[in-house]
Amino acid sequence: MKTIGVLTSGGDAPGMNAAIRAVVRAGIYNNLKVIGIERGYDGLINGKIKEMDLSSVADIIHRGGTILKTARCEEFKTEEGRKKALNVLNVFGIDGLVVIGGDGSFMGAQKLSQSGIQTIGIPGTIDNDLGYTDYTIGFDTAINTVLESISKLRDTSTSHGRANVIEVMGRHCGDIALYTGLAGGAESIIVPEVDFETGDVCEKLIRGKTRGKLHSIIMLAEGIGNAFELGKEIEGKTGIETKVTVLGHIQRGGNPTAFDRVFASKMGARAVELLLDGKSGRALGIHNNKIIDIDIHEALSKKKRFDEDMYRLAKILSI
Ligand code: ADP
Repeated sequence: MKTIGVLTSGGDAPGMNAAIRAVVRAGIYNNLKVIGIERGYDGLINGKIKEMDLSSVADIIHRGGTILKTARCEEFKTEEGRKKALNVLNVFGIDGLVVIGGDGSFMGAQKLSQSGIQTIGIPGTIDNDLGYTDYTIGFDTAINTVLESISKLRDTSTSHGRANVIEVMGRHCGDIALYTGLAGGAESIIVPEVDFETGDVCEKLIRGKTRGKLHSIIMLAEGIGNAFELGKEIEGKTGIETKVTVLGHIQRGGNPTAFDRVFASKMGARAVELLLDGKSGRALGIHNNKIIDIDIHEALSKKKRFDEDMYRLAKILSI
């Protein structure tokens, strides 16, 4: 192994830069040439590559986004597209590749590994929707961003005696809503993994108001109906003025938290170790506070487990 490549793909996540930095620095420390591939698989197909040195990753550990940029690339899903990518890898002598991204990016990484390129996946997505790892890079930063917004909305809601529906990201995964709902003291948490009745949400709001509560927070994971319609329905049923906030892409930016930086740094360095050990088709993650690596196929087939206990706890504490 002489030359390795690194790319970020799919949706960006705070902490990706810390992972890139770790791959580059650990690679150079181990006398490898490290190539940065821009804009994910699209850049790989089109040869958008540059050699990285120690200073090309200076001053980035604390920055959100990804200095390598990211993209979605339909062409890479085709045999033809992947042939072009393999050709570029060949031409530049890249014999190991680190892919930082979500489940879609991992599917691409798996295919490259099957074609004989040593490939390692690092989970980078704010959604925390991968079943094999307890956390993904960016999730911790995203939930802290959401918490900051909850605090701000709480201030103004208290002044006016309002309820708030706050829609957060996560695609099919309710983790962002669950963690921020518990940490932010939300009255209700609505996630795709658990059935809900608007009637129950309203009853709780009315109970709270009767007890003299000045504000209420309802965390809503994206993808389960329309936040604005829900807000209207709640207001209609309870008579409590209800504001709706869709936090959107603000959740994808910002300086990564210490957890995300440390986690990303550890995985970036481990990815290089795995490549040096001749490993391929492995996905890195964290389980019970330990960095783990498992077969990428197995990683993709593991169903994400929703933390029912945490959900129950949040319900008990917001009684
Ligand atoms: P994420 O990695 O955040 O889940 P996507 O699902 O958009 O994001 O996937 C990112 C990219 O990974 C896609 O644009 C495509 O280039 C590649 N990809 C996704 N699925 C496959 C697949 N089945 N085979 C090959 N490449 C894939």
